[in-house]
Amino acid sequence: MTEKMPDPHPGGVDPDDCASTAHQWEIARLAEALRVDPREGLSADECHRRRLSFGPNLLPDAKNISRLRILLNQLRSAVVALLVVAAVLAMVYREWTEGLAIAVVLLINTTIGFVSELRAMRSMEALRKMGTISARVRREGRILEVPAEELVTGDIVLLEGGDVVPADIRLIEASNLAVDQSALTGESEAVDKTADGLAEEVPLADRSCMVFMGTAVNRGSATGLVTGIASNTELGRIASLVEQAAPERSPMEKQIARLGGQLVWVTLLCVVLIAGVGIATGKDWFLMIEAAISLAVAAIPEGLPIVATLALARGMWRMAKQNAVVEKLSAVETLGATTVICTDKTGTLTENKMNVKRLVSTSGAIEFDHNLSSFKSGEEQVLADGNELLREMLITGALCNRAELASGSIKGSGDPMELALLEVAQAADISRPSLDQAMKKIEEYAFSTETKMMAVSYTRNGSVIYFVKGAPEAVVRHSTAVRGPAGTAPMTDELREHWNELTQKLAQDGLRVLGLAQKSTRTQHEEPYTDLELLGLVGLHDPPRQDVKQAITASKRAGIRVVMVTGDHPATARNIALAVGLASDDTEVVQGSAISPWNRLSEQQRQTILNAEIFSRATPEQKYDLVAVYQQAGEIVAMTGDGVNDAPALKRADIGVAMGLRGTQVARQAAAMVLRDDAFATIVLAIREGRVIFRNIQRFVGYLLSCNLGEILVIGLAVLAGMPLPILPLQILFLNLVTDVFPAFALGTGAGDADILKRPPRDPGKPLVTRSIWLQIIGNGSVIALVTLLSFYLANSWLGLGGYAATTVSFLTISLAQLWNVFNMRDPRSRMLLNDITRNPYVWAALALCVILLLAAVYVPSIAMVLSLERPSGLAWGLVLTLSLVPLLIGQAGKFLSRRMAGHHP
Ligand code: ATP
Repeated sequence: MTEKMPDPHPGGVDPDDCASTAHQWEIARLAEALRVDPREGLSADECHRRRLSFGPNLLPDAKNISRLRILLNQLRSAVVALLVVAAVLAMVYREWTEGLAIAVVLLINTTIGFVSELRAMRSMEALRKMGTISARVRREGRILEVPAEELVTGDIVLLEGGDVVPADIRLIEASNLAVDQSALTGESEAVDKTADGLAEEVPLADRSCMVFMGTAVNRGSATGLVTGIASNTELGRIASLVEQAAPERSPMEKQIARLGGQLVWVTLLCVVLIAGVGIATGKDWFLMIEAAISLAVAAIPEGLPIVATLALARGMWRMAKQNAVVEKLSAVETLGATTVICTDKTGTLTENKMNVKRLVSTSGAIEFDHNLSSFKSGEEQVLADGNELLREMLITGALCNRAELASGSIKGSGDPMELALLEVAQAADISRPSLDQAMKKIEEYAFSTETKMMAVSYTRNGSVIYFVKGAPEAVVRHSTAVRGPAGTAPMTDELREHWNELTQKLAQDGLRVLGLAQKSTRTQHEEPYTDLELLGLVGLHDPPRQDVKQAITASKRAGIRVVMVTGDHPATARNIALAVGLASDDTEVVQGSAISPWNRLSEQQRQTILNAEIFSRATPEQKYDLVAVYQQAGEIVAMTGDGVNDAPALKRADIGVAMGLRGTQVARQAAAMVLRDDAFATIVLAIREGRVIFRNIQRFVGYLLSCNLGEILVIGLAVLAGMPLPILPLQILFLNLVTDVFPAFALGTGAGDADILKRPPRDPGKPLVTRSIWLQIIGNGSVIALVTLLSFYLANSWLGLGGYAATTVSFLTISLAQLWNVFNMRDPRSRMLLNDITRNPYVWAALALCVILLLAAVYVPSIAMVLSLERPSGLAWGLVLTLSLVPLLIGQAGKFLSRRMAGHHP
């Protein structure tokens, strides 16, 4: 239903009016006002038009940062201020070339800063978009899945348990709907919602026919009409009250920013001292101030935060390519420090491709092969035997079921376990649509991890039948009778024992076991799980994933413990754990109930938990408690989860890992990382990437700081010794642009050492720049400074050069020494020639580019003139090359020795 007339409000009604009063409108009137037919939804054109008028469904702080703002960010730095002062000074002293050159440096500096920050921001934004939630909408009569950002007022949205509500929505239909509104109202209990309109104005929390953006659907399903989007939602109103949130910064980025800030002060202090001493000892004023400013510009590590963000973004892209999407920036570095992975079983360690393998009832067991063909061949006989019991089991499995089999071009959907039940029923010509025609459905009782059962009720031949399926112990416990071929027998303790043994046997074969039961009553809406009549057991086969075994071995080698936390039966859990190499024959399985409450465990109980490798029949609450127990013991925990109830455990864990395929939106929102393929191996890949990113950032911080220290020492020592300056101010600026930026960027992109997963996790308490890195910075920086001073001395005394010819030699020596210094950033345990740095093509590209720029500086007359450089002789080049290699050789020798001392052999 689209409107041709020009209209001041393309939605037909002022969205501001309708958003805040929608709970009081009648559905039909509201739909009319919003110009939509709820059965059809909006047309694509209309959606487009509304999007253009009202903008995307994004809260203010999620909007992109503008280019102008990024440009202004560049101009706010201390470096820019210093350069401006230097340029002004040059002009005042009528040093026009100098002034112009500084202006060019300023331009280049700002451009590099702008381009890198823009790239980093855009990458981050694109990464963030990957994780955004989607919404199911009805448009032009079809159900589509669209990013929540594309919703418009008037859209018809479908919701179900586990969804995050994507906009403010007036409910049209709701079945058994409960919503957790704590994000908005602070109340912790989920509230029931219905489609019934409200006659009068009520507070937000009581608007039972409305669901609000950012809240979570705990259970049930609903259809509704979008009445408010973006800042026109209740959440948007709160969000626009608070100041625009700054983009999230990870602890590591904060640490880098703090380090950068501290270094600015240290540098400024050094520089003022050097300038003071220089001027006091009679050096030229202008030269000293200019040298001081250039030195400050060169030494202030203004590139650090940007390179860090770029390295993070690049690492995150690599993770995303491997199916791990990071939702919280802080996860990247925490991943590298992970010591325990708590993983669920179904779908993460196993394929989650289920087949019914065995059906067990009082009349015996039937075995199936992969194609269910044994069933098909035996079917006639089995069913001809009057095996009504088998039929009832298949019917129960098919009805107590939320999955949909594939039909025609429509793909099958739902829980693979339930799909397997539909498939086995279909093989016996039992289909749910025909059952649904023959009987009338009354109610569905959703699966809960508390009861570990689900049920549906139908009317059949005048009675009400409850069909129940669930964890076998739960079903057996709630059964008071067992159905047999000849009728029903009362359940006794011995019989219960017998059925639990049968369950145990199926589970020991690695099968996932379900119990099936029914009950028949005269009245509707009874408690579904009392006085059940047990029909039998279903054993489902779910093969372990191929790559899990390798990934578990890799984790163990990387010093990371892997623990299985499953809701499944202990014997099934153990069987799968054995199959994937997570446990050995004598591994004990601990029941989930042993973990709670975590803060009242005895020391012995805690030890049992800390030593265990498999937890079975664990509930989401117990997962939360398990994280708490580990954290108390100082572990860094990654925990997987998929359901709504897993959200607290995912939030509490250091790395909450949600499942992209079978996870709910609520779990995804609570998690720090989402696995697009649900696979365990992806967690291990992500941990590897986390470690690599951390190492890369440590590397370029080490690199930048050792280069900067080298420059400060050269100038500082020269001034203190009363020598002429071995590198001139503009040369320092050039050096800063050439040697600092490109190799540092390249170091930030390394793919990681081959053996990075063979080392223990990093100690999260240690700072980014550890003591040994500081020692390296001081060592490399000092050696670079010494060879530069030596080259200057030799150029004067040995080659007999003076003036610019001598400074050219020292300038080239420090430039090349800094370039070669990149190879000193390799891990001491890696090989001297073949390592992460030498294998990184970006490093070679950066070096090649820098060498070309250096040659241009010397051989292109106009640049050489501005930089006061003279063409070096062959002998001068020999001196430069020889001395510039010294820091590299000393650095490598140091690594060789430290490796020897640590007991490794090269
Ligand atoms: P994991 O994902 O770690 O393998 P799980 O899926 O077995 O665990 P839960 O989802 O907590 O863990 O389920 C617990 C038990 O409840 C299952 O082992 C199964 O017996 C039963 N169950 C699970 N889903 C359903 C369902 N949809 N209907 C009936 N019973 C179910």
